[in-house]
Amino acid sequence: MSINSFIKRGLKYIVSGVPTKRITQEIVMLSPSNLLLGKTALITGGTSGIGFSIAESFINAGAVVCITGRDIKRCEKAVEQLKVKTGNRNNDKIFCCEMDMLQVSSFEQVVSSVVQKMGKIDILVNNAGINLNGSYHCTEEAYDSILDTNLKGMFFLSRCVGEYMVKNEIEGNILNIASASSLRPAINPYILSKWGVRGLTLGLAKKFIKYNIVVNGIAPGPTATPMLGEDSSDDIALPNNPSGRFALPEEIANMAVVLTSSMGRLVVGDIVYMTGGSGLTTFDDIKY
Ligand code: NAP
Repeated sequence: MSINSFIKRGLKYIVSGVPTKRITQEIVMLSPSNLLLGKTALITGGTSGIGFSIAESFINAGAVVCITGRDIKRCEKAVEQLKVKTGNRNNDKIFCCEMDMLQVSSFEQVVSSVVQKMGKIDILVNNAGINLNGSYHCTEEAYDSILDTNLKGMFFLSRCVGEYMVKNEIEGNILNIASASSLRPAINPYILSKWGVRGLTLGLAKKFIKYNIVVNGIAPGPTATPMLGEDSSDDIALPNNPSGRFALPEEIANMAVVLTSSMGRLVVGDIVYMTGGSGLTTFDDIKY
């Protein structure tokens, strides 16, 4: 065990008061498969964590993907990593482009350059998000940055890609990465943004289903990604969660493949919660 893991485990013990066992989890991936063969996907925030895992799973399920991020060098590095991890599958068809979710005015141009690269967009995964300094005592600047990245950007990009799909008669998918934190009272901008994502997912689903564009969300519970300073290959113990552990990005990615493949066509306007049981914590759990 690395010194970092050792310290982290000690801290988990101090915070939770529960002695922690080292926990890891083997995940059987749906891929390689042909579940998304012939599909093209634009995945926002594909440079790390959940977005990166979704890109990997989509490629392994036969899709052509384009990932985005704020820094082209980081995007290109992620593409190289994806090429290594996915072997020969669609290796010449893993694309990236720089796109900042705060730059709404750039979306039309970015979307048309993505269409040029991939030929079309069948699937939009709205994954990019931040949770920096997002406490109740946050600054106005932090509040705006979180709401604008996580919600405003998602609204305008979904509208842009949704209208593109309608115009081109593409019976596609929009998949939003929401959060199980939207089950909680919204006392900080991150949770508030994810309440918004939940509402937006339902709204987009209703708007677009008549064009056979299927919109859904996945609401992960705590997931071992850089956002939480966790590494999915390391100890994933989370003693206060009923499952006892963090979710892995690969588990979220498996669900993303199901929902955007033909298996998911009748799941419409739903949010799939992947909380590891944290959504089960209720009033009767209070010790009197
Ligand atoms: P992560 O590893 O930090 O990844 C965040 C991604 O978003 C990165 O690729 C980042 O790209 C991108 N991004 C951030 N701000 C952006 C912006 N302004 N414009 C474009 N891209 C931006 O975190 P993660 O945990 O995988 O998070 C992915 C999504 O899952 C988020 O929406 C998050 O809210 C949600 N989620 C996470 C958890 C969790 O416990 N980890 C739980 C529930 C929901 P660059 O930094 O390269 O620009």
